[in-house]
Amino acid sequence: MATPSDDAFRREVRAFIKSDLPADLRDRVLLGKSLERQDYVRWQKILHRRGWIAGHWPKQYGGCDWTPLQRWIFEEETTQAGAPWVIPFGINYVGPVIYTFGNEEQKRQHLPGILTSDVFWCQGYSEPGAGSDLANLQTRARRDGDHYVVNGGKIWTSYSHMADWVFALVRTAEGGKAQEGISFLLIDLRTPGITIRPIISIDMCHHLNQVFFDDVRVPVANRVGEENRGWTYAKFLLSNERVLIAEVGKLKRLYAQLRRMAAETYEGGAPLLRDGDFSRKMIQISLGIRVLEAMCMRQLGAGTADAPPGPEASVLKIRGSELMQSITHLMVEVQGRRGLPYQIEALAPNWNEEEIGAAGATGMMREFLFGRAATIYGGSNEIQRNIIAKAALGL
Ligand SMILES: Cc1cc2nc3c(=O)[nH]c(=O)nc-3n(C[C@H](O)[C@H](O)[C@H](O)COP(=O)(O)OP(=O)(O)OC[C@H]3O[C@@H](n4cnc5c(N)ncnc54)[C@H](O)[C@@H]3O)c2cc1C
Repeated sequence: MATPSDDAFRREVRAFIKSDLPADLRDRVLLGKSLERQDYVRWQKILHRRGWIAGHWPKQYGGCDWTPLQRWIFEEETTQAGAPWVIPFGINYVGPVIYTFGNEEQKRQHLPGILTSDVFWCQGYSEPGAGSDLANLQTRARRDGDHYVVNGGKIWTSYSHMADWVFALVRTAEGGKAQEGISFLLIDLRTPGITIRPIISIDMCHHLNQVFFDDVRVPVANRVGEENRGWTYAKFLLSNERVLIAEVGKLKRLYAQLRRMAAETYEGGAPLLRDGDFSRKMIQISLGIRVLEAMCMRQLGAGTADAPPGPEASVLKIRGSELMQSITHLMVEVQGRRGLPYQIEALAPNWNEEEIGAAGATGMMREFLFGRAATIYGGSNEIQRNIIAKAALGL
């Protein structure tokens, strides 16, 4: 399905990574070390200089009009090579909402900061009691002249401690269908009345937070689109991750790492990789990745990658997250032979002492622990199964 120009594009991306991806950043990513805001910004600014920070955006807003396949190629190559994750909240989520539904002033104010990575965003959708059932959200925005007064709270907001702005779903009307009274607000996190509290996750790291709003005054001008129509924009935003949600590039990278570890770990005088039971599990994963990739390619070939996500996207989410968990589970199994180290201090960016266990063992353990969340975020796998059941069985 890839055309000669797609192959040329892949070569161009590879050459760029070889020349421009800083080795220290790459090594830290491959070892699973923690990255800080300035690390993400450093890489994102390199992409920006190359014109590739938002390649999938339309040219008129600073993108390259990439096809879905070009975007896929870019993601696959950068992820496999060990480039830092591009924090998606600005580039992939709110940016497209702003250029699609925002007014000219909002585009002028927000798009440049997203492209340069000088402004970081986070996503304020979930609340206690409004995760899978998102339309049940209770954070309220009451109109007061040319402001909304926001009260309530958001939970599981990834990276809000690094962010400058949050895009939030808030309730602006009561009664009627729950989805109909929701609006989409852009909120400056420095506004008085906002408190951010960390949530330390199972890997003992700080990715997540709870964000509280107490009488926070937000200009009405910061509302995207129409009042009470936020659900439409919220759904559009989620549809942008249709195929990439499978994270095939990351799966391939972790699988290669697992293979290396198993080749270097001996049991009964032979590498674990040659153990019959172990290699059977490896083959299952390897086949799983190939099938998943083929499914993604079929989606890309069907030209529906930009359409709202249907049951196919749910299948990709389920298989991708399950494979991620299978790989990290096996990594732990390999490391178990060395006494399961989880030396949390070795994740610090400036740690320069010898690690216990194989190179990257701590990062791998973190990947395993945090990977438990992969079947929850982005719409839990149970919810995805409901979507598939509805589509397949018409329930
Ligand atoms: C690491 C991580 C990062 C996140 N980052 C963000 C973020 O940046 N911004 C943000 O807004 N949110 C974020 N979330 C929140 C995420 O979207 C929610 O956790 C997710 O939607 C599930 O909602 P919940 O946690 O409220 O669980 P619940 O909805 O309470 O579900 C609890 C359990 O019940 C199951 N369940 C619920 N309803 C059904 C049903 N109808 N049928 C079958 N089973 C059901 C679920 O599958 C789950 O197993 C993040 C979550 C995690 C774990």
